[in-house]
Amino acid sequence: MKIETLDSWGFGSRRPMMIAGPCSAETEEQLMDTCKQIKEVGINIARAGIWKPRTRPNNFEGVGHEALKWVQNVKKVTGLYFSIEVGNPQHVEAALKHDIDMLWIGARSTVNPFTVQEIAEALRGVDIPVLVKNPINPDLALWMGAMERLWHVGITKIGAIHRGFSSFQKTSYRNLPMWRIPIDLKNQMPDVPLICDPSHISGSRDHIFDVSQRAIDLDYDGLMIETHRDPDNAWSDSAQQVTPTSLGNILRNLKYRKPTSEDKEFITHLEELRHQIDHVDKELYEIIAQRMDIVEEIGQYKKRNNVTVFQKNRWKEISDSRRQWAEKLNLNPDFMAELFKVIHDASIKRQEAILNNPLDKSE
Ligand code: PEP
Ligand code: MN
Repeated sequence: MKIETLDSWGFGSRRPMMIAGPCSAETEEQLMDTCKQIKEVGINIARAGIWKPRTRPNNFEGVGHEALKWVQNVKKVTGLYFSIEVGNPQHVEAALKHDIDMLWIGARSTVNPFTVQEIAEALRGVDIPVLVKNPINPDLALWMGAMERLWHVGITKIGAIHRGFSSFQKTSYRNLPMWRIPIDLKNQMPDVPLICDPSHISGSRDHIFDVSQRAIDLDYDGLMIETHRDPDNAWSDSAQQVTPTSLGNILRNLKYRKPTSEDKEFITHLEELRHQIDHVDKELYEIIAQRMDIVEEIGQYKKRNNVTVFQKNRWKEISDSRRQWAEKLNLNPDFMAELFKVIHDASIKRQEAILNNPLDKSE
C-alpha cells in the first residue's frame, strides 16, 4: 500500500496537521463566525458535521444539504479548506458538488463494511483525501479494512482518526483511548497519517489538552479539535467543544518534541542507556527462564503426589506479598499485578501441560 504523504494533500506543511471547527454546522452565522475565529488562531482546515449520526433519534441530526452552501460561502470568505463527515453515497455526491476538500468516515459507519464499501464505490476515480475514524468497538482489523476498501477503489490520500472506543464501563473519558490500538495501526500501516480527535475521546473540554499532548508525544500527524464560538449553547457535543480562544491557548501550550536529535553527546548517552536496558532485559529473561524451570519441577512434583495445579491459598499469599514488594520498590502495584498475572497464567499452563501429558514419565 503506497499512501501519499501529507505533503501532497495540498493543505500546506504545518505539522501536526490541525483541523478545527464545530461538531455541527447549526446556522450560517454560527458557522461563519466560528470559522473566522479559528482562522485567526492559525487554523487552515475547518471541520463541521452536516449530517449527524446520533445514537438516539429526536436529537439534532444536522442541517443537511442546505449547510453545504454555507460551507461554500465560508470557504470563499475565509480561504479555509473544509472537511465534513459522509455516511452514504448521497453525502459523497453532495460534498463533491460543493467543493469540500476532505471527507471523513465516522466511527458509526466504519463498523459497517457495507456502508464503507458503498462510500468507497461513490469515490471511485475521485482524488480527495479521506480520513477514517476508528470503529466504535476496539477492532483494529475493522479499522484497517475500511481503509483497504478506500485503497481498492483508488483513493491514495488516506488518513486515520483515533477518536477512542465505546465502553460499558463508566470512566473519565467519553471513549476510551486504548492507545495500544492506534500504535499497532502505526506499526502495521506506517504510511497512513494518524490524527487524534481528543474531543470525542475526552467528552469534556477539561481533558482536551492532555489527550492532545499525549498524541503529540506519540508522534501523531495531526489533531482534530471540536471548536465552537459558544460551546455551552452548541446543538451537539456541547461539553467537549472549546472556544476559538481556548483552541489558540491549547495550540500555543502544546510541547513539540523532535523524534530524534543530531547532538553527538545525546546520541552517545542514549546509546549507553539503551545498552543498559538491553542488559537488564536479558537478565529479566534469564530470571523468567529460571522461574519456569522451577515451575516445571513443581509441576512434576505435584503430578507425582497427585495434587492440583492451582491452590487458592497459595495464590492469595502470592498476590499479597507481590503487592507489598511492588510498593516497597516504588513500582506501580497495579502494573506489577497485571504483569505478574501474565507470568502466573503462563506457569499454570506449563504445569497443566505436565499434569495432563500421558507421555510424561514423572509419575
Ligand atoms: C464527529 O466528529 O462529530 C463525530 C460524529 O464523531 P464520531 O464519528 O467520532 O463519533
Ligand atoms: Mn461531535
